[in-house]
Amino acid sequence: MTNTAKKISPDVVYHQATVTRPRREQILGHNGAVLWFTGLSGAGKSTLAHAVEEELHNRNCLTYVFDGDNVRHGLCGDLGFSLEDRKENLRRISEMCKLTADAGIIAFTAFISPVQEDRQNAKALIGEDDFIEIYCKASLEVCEGRDVKGLYKKAREGIISDFTGISSPYEEPENADLIVDTGTNTLEECTNQVLGYLFRRGIFISARK
Ligand code: ADP
Repeated sequence: MTNTAKKISPDVVYHQATVTRPRREQILGHNGAVLWFTGLSGAGKSTLAHAVEEELHNRNCLTYVFDGDNVRHGLCGDLGFSLEDRKENLRRISEMCKLTADAGIIAFTAFISPVQEDRQNAKALIGEDDFIEIYCKASLEVCEGRDVKGLYKKAREGIISDFTGISSPYEEPENADLIVDTGTNTLEECTNQVLGYLFRRGIFISARK
C-alpha cells in the first residue's frame, strides 16, 4: 500500500454522528475550511496565516493554525525532510484537517508543501469544496535575504540537507486558488487579499456581528 492510499484498520465500522457538520456550522456562523498555504521557507506562510487567523478570530470565527515546526513536535515528530517523509507529514496533516473542517473549524496550514502531487493528494483527501490553496509567492532571493531562522545560511554551508529551494525542489502551484505576493506586498495587503477571497468564496454563512 502506498502512503497516499486510504488507510483503514481492520474490523472497524464508521459511526454516524447525530450532531452533523451543518448543525455545528450553524452555531459557528461559518463553514469549516482548510486554507493551505504553500511557498518557500521565509515566504510568509506562518506570518500571513496567523495574521488572517487574528482577523477571523476577531470576527468570532473558530480557527486553528497547523504550523510546520509545531506538528513536528508531536504528531509528525518521527519524520524527517526526505521527500518520502514530507509526503507522510502532509498525509497526516491532511487527515487532521479533514477532521477539523468536519468540526466546522477554519484551519490554516503553513507548510512548504513543495510537491504539486502532494498538494493534489491533500486536496483530494480533504475535498475540493473545503480546500483552499494559497500560494505565498516570494522569490528565493527575497526569502534567502530574510533568512528568518538562519536556515538558508546553514543550507548553503551544507549543514542542513534537503533544504527547499537550495538542495530540494519547490514546484510552483499550477492551480492555486489564490496567489499572494508576499515577496513585495505588505502583510496588511496580503491579509486583506485573503480575507476578500474568503468572503467571495462564501465561507461565511452570515455576518455574526
Ligand atoms: P514561512 O512560514 O513561509 O517560513 P515566516 O512567516 O516564518 O515564513 O517568515 C516570513 C517573514 O517575512 C517574516 O519575517 C515576515 O515579517 C516577513 N514578511 C514581509 N512581508 C510579508 C508579507 N507580505 N506576508 C508575510 N510575511 C511577510
